Amino acid sequence: MLRVRFHGRGGQGVKVASRVLGTAAFFEGYHAQDFPLYGAERRGAPITAFTRISHVPILERGVISEPDIIIILDETILNDPLANPLSRLKEGGVVFINTTHSPADAKEKYKIAEQVIALDITKISLEILGLPVLSTLAGGVASRIAGLREDSLKKAVEKEASEILTDKELVAKNREAALSCFYAIQPIEVKTSEAVFLGSPVANVPFEPAMISSPAINTTGNTPLRRTGNWRVFKPVWNYESCTRCMTCVARCPDGCIAVNEDGFPFTDYDNCKGCLICVEECPVGAIEKVREVHA
Ligand code: SF4
Ligand code: SF4
Repeated sequence: MLRVRFHGRGGQGVKVASRVLGTAAFFEGYHAQDFPLYGAERRGAPITAFTRISHVPILERGVISEPDIIIILDETILNDPLANPLSRLKEGGVVFINTTHSPADAKEKYKIAEQVIALDITKISLEILGLPVLSTLAGGVASRIAGLREDSLKKAVEKEASEILTDKELVAKNREAALSCFYAIQPIEVKTSEAVFLGSPVANVPFEPAMISSPAINTTGNTPLRRTGNWRVFKPVWNYESCTRCMTCVARCPDGCIAVNEDGFPFTDYDNCKGCLICVEECPVGAIEKVREVHA
């Protein structure tokens, strides 16, 4: 059996990525099981999803604690000790990271002993879809690492994307983006392990600590400690030569994280700016530029 765990943030498409992989495996004749696990938070909060793939019926249930493959859609998750995405990766397993770092740099930076595959799928998504939505792209990466075929992935993306999108052109772009990621990854060997029979053909969920599903809400007064701006795709950058100091951006920021410096110009607290870019949209003179964050 192959056990795959996906980590990302709410809104990036973690659940659909796990479904694309499961559906591709199913189209190829395997038994497949996929499901997400949401915490009690919001868009941008750490999300986990799981896919099991097997030649035999899957009787195992519950979260995947010891994955063979870990797919990380958002590199900033690696800096979050509460999300702990690398936990209990099997020996001989594989970690994929959506990053601008090379595999060697990412391996060293995050101290990963097992094999690391790195690719900037956010860039591919922005180029093909025009949005940082990573679901089908991460599904493409995972399908390649799992050793599935191109035609199975194509059919899976069409099925899964058509269930959430009515625009046929966007479905076709998702197929293109998924295949682009699929072929950007070299085929590799992944060590699989035996299916586990837990004693009952009915759902038999092993106990898992609450920290896995609600990692950030078990202490009081922790909100000021959370840096809510650590998962931006773009950040606003001010050009003071154009700025008229009208203060529209200060008033419109939904996070209230734009302050004014001693010269009367606005600046943001990047630890908490979530990159919504409302300030960029609202500035009447175009004095704020959106700039891609390239490294976590
Ligand atoms: S990008 Fe959004 S959160 Fe950040 S400063 Fe602009 S309005 Fe505020
Ligand atoms: S909205 Fe634009 S012009 Fe007005 S203060 Fe902000 S950056 Fe300056």
